[in-house]
Amino acid sequence: MDLSILATGIVRILGVTALVILSYSIVIRNFPKGWKKGAAVGVLFAVGAILSMNDPVTIAPGVFFDGRTALLAIVYPYGGPIGTVIAAVLIAGYRIWLGGIGAVPGLASITLLCIISYAMTRIPVRKIPIGIGRSVLTGLAASISIVSVLLLPEQVVETIIGPPLIAIVVANILNVVIIVDFLEREKSRLRIIRALEHEASVDPLTKLQNRRAFDKAALRAMNDNRANSTHCSLIMIDIDHFKTINDRLGHYTGDTVLADVAAIIQKNVRLTDVVVRYGGEEILLLLTDTEQDVANELAERVRSEIENTDFLTGQESVHVTVSAGVASLGDKYASMEALLKAADKALYHAKLSGRNRVEVA
Ligand code: GH3
Ligand code: MG
Ligand code: MG
Repeated sequence: MDLSILATGIVRILGVTALVILSYSIVIRNFPKGWKKGAAVGVLFAVGAILSMNDPVTIAPGVFFDGRTALLAIVYPYGGPIGTVIAAVLIAGYRIWLGGIGAVPGLASITLLCIISYAMTRIPVRKIPIGIGRSVLTGLAASISIVSVLLLPEQVVETIIGPPLIAIVVANILNVVIIVDFLEREKSRLRIIRALEHEASVDPLTKLQNRRAFDKAALRAMNDNRANSTHCSLIMIDIDHFKTINDRLGHYTGDTVLADVAAIIQKNVRLTDVVVRYGGEEILLLLTDTEQDVANELAERVRSEIENTDFLTGQESVHVTVSAGVASLGDKYASMEALLKAADKALYHAKLSGRNRVEVA
């Protein structure tokens, strides 16, 4: 066969690879984990493989070389068992539909590639780290699937042995190296974005959410309230006489106490509730789907637990109390702004009425 045709064929295969890489970032942004991610990656790899199978390099009549080898060789580490099965079934189905004398060896090589793809994941990353070395090994391993051509008639096998075979192996290795490199770059780019998003919404001292996160959560809660008439409550909590603690024990101790108070509050709420460091020592709770009396009970529980906690600060155990204001969405307070003002006012009343208490707006 003409090697220049094979060379342009490889470039076309790399074009499909580029499309798969671009779509992969959309897939993992929308399905970051779990079986949905596996299934989506499986479908994506199958679509890439089928596109490539539609535009194959013909090595011998009815025998094609295309990008499916490289994609199947890495489907297990990216798509897991679900992605592997989905990709294998879709690609095998398409190969049967294409027909030709290469159909049976084609199915054999698809099965072999899935096994190779899984087997490669059994080699610990600590032994062969993800990178060029591992990709070259994967590409080489994937090329074992070429033994399936031995299922072809002898005269066909003869036309493949020699330079075409070497070119196919090189193309497989090149393809795996390029796909893995880009997919790994994309994964680490998304990891960085997620870490930055997390940092941008979390307060470093208390590990609570910040106001930016609160604004987003408040918008979601209001939309939910409009769409499904769900309840929503706010609790505004403020540490009593916190300035005295700073003055008496130092700012560092103040920081420790504040972080401990935040932890007590956080452990008392559900995963769906949003706990925000709203101001210096002011903590705001956004309780979705929560009526006023339930919010009031929660505020009282938190207040009482903090009152009864020995905050150990190294030098001595410190006691603090908190005051809280509770407000719930309803006829009286219909917007988040009104709710915030009401919770703040209720907190002010709690302070005026002697502190260490909960007031409802
Ligand atoms: P009240 O019972 O009326 O709330 O009295 P207070 O002393 O708690 O209230 P005030 O608003 O007068 O003082 C709040 C103090 O909280 C002052 C400020 O230095 C302190 N504070 C705010 N943020 C932090 C922080 O991150 N770390 C420490 N250590 N202190 C903080
Ligand atoms: Mg205070
Ligand atoms: Mg305050």
